[in-house]
Amino acid sequence: MPDFEEKINAMWLQKISDMIKGKPTIWKTLYTYFLGITTRELMPELAENKYSHSEQFGKNAKKLKELYIQYRSKIKLTENITLKEIYYEIIGQRKNSITVEEKNKEIEFTNIWTKVAGIKNDIHREFLYKIIHRAVLTGEKQIDRGIRGIDPQCKYCNRQFETFEHLFIDCKELKMFRTYVIQNGQSEDLNFEISKKSLLLVDIKTELIPIIYGYTHTVWACRHFEDTLNLYKLQMKYHKDKEIYRKYN
Ligand SMILES: [Zn+2]
Repeated sequence: MPDFEEKINAMWLQKISDMIKGKPTIWKTLYTYFLGITTRELMPELAENKYSHSEQFGKNAKKLKELYIQYRSKIKLTENITLKEIYYEIIGQRKNSITVEEKNKEIEFTNIWTKVAGIKNDIHREFLYKIIHRAVLTGEKQIDRGIRGIDPQCKYCNRQFETFEHLFIDCKELKMFRTYVIQNGQSEDLNFEISKKSLLLVDIKTELIPIIYGYTHTVWACRHFEDTLNLYKLQMKYHKDKEIYRKYN
């Protein structure tokens, strides 16, 4: 659950939002803290509301204070903001500029770029380059870049946030398809798996690249189709993509 912490933070911030709006809350610790002396330092207008003040600090006071200071200028905790919106705002604040090499210092990338350079077809080379960089425009990336009005959930399961790892490695709805592709890949290399590393082309032999391409391109291309959960159709698309790759490279 990579976004678990952000979800919790969103819940805290929503409580703060309720507090600022003057909504009654059962969370007394928060009330006490936010109406205490520290509140006045943070937000003078709160000192003028109708609640009585207290200097008593709750045990969560430090965490709340940090969160509030971190986000108060970035997220408008307005009247109508929902928990979900607060959550997506938090996700959107995350810094995402670290390169794939910096993120994976233990991996030797020279060999990987040599493999990419060896892909003859421009379109296939560019797609796999984006896969290695985790640069395909997932729901997560769109939220990160401030693109709103989109559905950032995974199109296959509709339950999880569409991150690169969820979509290509973890989504439960694609488990059977992944098993199929893994078995197909293992017919060429017994150690083949679909993992963070193999999707960086780490230790992937040239003969296996069509399989990586076929798999990732199928998952990517089919995610907006209504009937993609049909395993047979995913398999057909996979073989077609794999063969097209082989034909042009
Ligand atoms: Zn999913």
